[in-house]
Amino acid sequence: MFSHTVVTTKLPVAFFILFILILGLEFGSFISVLIDRVPANENINRRSFCPKCKNELRIRDNIPLISYLALRGRCHYCHAEISKKYPLLEIVTAAALFIPLFQFDGFWVIAAWEAFVIFGIALSAIDFQSRELPDLLIGPLFLSVTVLLGVDAQRSGHWIELRNAAMASVFLFLLFLLIYMVTKGGIGLGDAKLAASIGFLTGYHGLISTYMATITGFTLATLVGISYITAKGLPTKSNFPFAPFLVVGTLMSVWLTTIMENLRF
Ligand SMILES: [Zn+2]
Repeated sequence: MFSHTVVTTKLPVAFFILFILILGLEFGSFISVLIDRVPANENINRRSFCPKCKNELRIRDNIPLISYLALRGRCHYCHAEISKKYPLLEIVTAAALFIPLFQFDGFWVIAAWEAFVIFGIALSAIDFQSRELPDLLIGPLFLSVTVLLGVDAQRSGHWIELRNAAMASVFLFLLFLLIYMVTKGGIGLGDAKLAASIGFLTGYHGLISTYMATITGFTLATLVGISYITAKGLPTKSNFPFAPFLVVGTLMSVWLTTIMENLRF
């Protein structure tokens, strides 16, 4: 299995951590742009603006996390409160970028997982906010994962792993498609497309990881679903955002698989 070596670098560790943090905050900030504009079909290249007064943000008010703190969470122009989802997304993304670094070895494998972290957080946030999973993000995620792991297989001769990945991808997609058809929309078609990427990524580490990712995702969704129903009663319309649980389950899967394997011996 994968040794949990901390990424070795000749740079001082503190500098490396700072670099990843800044990178994570930047990606988090970009994800904030995506979650508002992709579902609304808005231009993602346009300068950021206040959703209340529509004034374009000054460059100094557009620095991830720092600007939020400096502005004390309010717009420079109209003093409207800035949603906490923006700093939250930036912090979560920065923290999550560390997960693959500590869990995996090999540049291309880590790169594939980092792509999953970034797209996964964006898709989770969009699913949570707008109850949809745009193809505009699901497509590039699948492409990134398959190409990056393909390069790893080519460089390290992991052809069996790549075949397992492809098999797990098809299997998980069909499984979710079946659930989609049987439950008539209990999960979305977007979830099935997301599952294709999850199958490929986890299947590369062994089919048990795919199994763990799926089980963990469903378990988390069920637990949260039950607490929601207990607290607020049955939702009138079943449009539960499923992607966040699948993404968290996937990020936990390899780690859980290692624990399972250690328990067995
Ligand atoms: Zn404003």
